[in-house]
Amino acid sequence: MLDLDKAIELVEQTAVPLPPRRQRLLDAVGHRLAAAVVSDVDSPPWDRAMMDGFAVRSSDLAGRSGGPVELDVIVDLAAGDVTTLGIGCGACARIMTGAPVPSGADAVIPVESAIDGTATAHAGGRVRLHEPRFRPGQHVARRAAAFRVGQEILPAGVLLTAAGVGAAAEAGATHVLATARPRVAILSTGSELVSPDVVPAHGQTRNSNGPMLTAAVASLAAEPIPLGIAADSPEAIRAAVAQGLAADILILSGGVSAGDLDLVPAIFAACGVEQVFHKVRLKPGKPVWFGRLDRGPGQAGTLVFGLPGNPASSLVCFELFVRPAVAILAGRPRDAWHLPRYRGVLTVPAKAAADRPVYLPCRIVRSGGRLDVTPLPWTGSSDLVGLATADGLLVLPAGGTADAGCGVDVLLLEGAGRTTPSMP
Ligand code: AMP
Ligand code: MG
Repeated sequence: MLDLDKAIELVEQTAVPLPPRRQRLLDAVGHRLAAAVVSDVDSPPWDRAMMDGFAVRSSDLAGRSGGPVELDVIVDLAAGDVTTLGIGCGACARIMTGAPVPSGADAVIPVESAIDGTATAHAGGRVRLHEPRFRPGQHVARRAAAFRVGQEILPAGVLLTAAGVGAAAEAGATHVLATARPRVAILSTGSELVSPDVVPAHGQTRNSNGPMLTAAVASLAAEPIPLGIAADSPEAIRAAVAQGLAADILILSGGVSAGDLDLVPAIFAACGVEQVFHKVRLKPGKPVWFGRLDRGPGQAGTLVFGLPGNPASSLVCFELFVRPAVAILAGRPRDAWHLPRYRGVLTVPAKAAADRPVYLPCRIVRSGGRLDVTPLPWTGSSDLVGLATADGLLVLPAGGTADAGCGVDVLLLEGAGRTTPSMP
């Protein structure tokens, strides 16, 4: 059996970054741009009113030492309206935020500055405006003030965020070249498995790994491809594996331990997937299998994980092995490959396994400068409830018992603080 550190190292050595991919803008969120986004428009594309009010000529307001001015309203402009009318001396347009400022006008007086009940003046009426602190050009965003057509608005290398999506959308970029969003096929094996919308008959088990691993993949800004359930027959599993091998990563759960129907390692071999390791000194998760389909030079391979069927084991193995593989394929820096590791203090004694390190769901509470770590009740590798409410995984090295007050390592789970809002 392989040591855990060695197994993780083998995953890190086997995974290689995928070349950047051209992808739909929204698919690239959480990825780094591999080419700059260049705008096909000016922003704003024209002089834009930034307040509801009246578009005026600054020269009509200047030099009045702050006294009111009365103007003819010659046109009404809502956002989306355009006009060929120009604003001459003594005239103005009633204008709404987001409308193009008509020619001749170069400033907006907010509607609040209209006096004597003239705020409602429309085309054909007159408005009296009192704006003692008038600044020429006020409340107008000038054409191309933010960026120009042909300008790089997001440089290569930047991480695409929601704001970046907005900027790229404005710049007309429906697709971008970005670090690859790995495609991850997810297959659940087991003749006992039924879909979560079915009430399981005696002997049946709901497929919790499928949805769980799909969610875990999505949380890494990778693309989950759920393949559903394959019964424990070589034909069914082989067909589904063949389909999954078209992805960058195939995660299969179940069928990798030593039972009669643990057919998976042989099927992987028959499909040309080369084993890198099988079985790791780890609890839960000992039966985990890892390999790679090599398609030859210049061809992208597929990383293949056989995770244990028990859901808690599956998730722990996902966090320890699949997470770094996805991060490496997506071109992320080394410090983003693994769950963050902290040092904490045990609040109660905890028992380790004699022969392997144990990863236990735990509560983590910050108390002063210290992290107090308390294992959560956990009935074993089929029990997801502890993990579902845990802040982290308590790492207990092989052998012996850890006493209360001992220093321990914890891996912080994503979304930690779901029950403890003050987490780091
Ligand atoms: P296996 O690794 O196939 O021997 O399965 C170990 C245990 O995990 C068995 O009790 C299975 O019923 C259960 N199991 C396997 N796959 C799943 C799954 N997708 N969802 C929930 N439980 C599963
Ligand atoms: Mg099984």
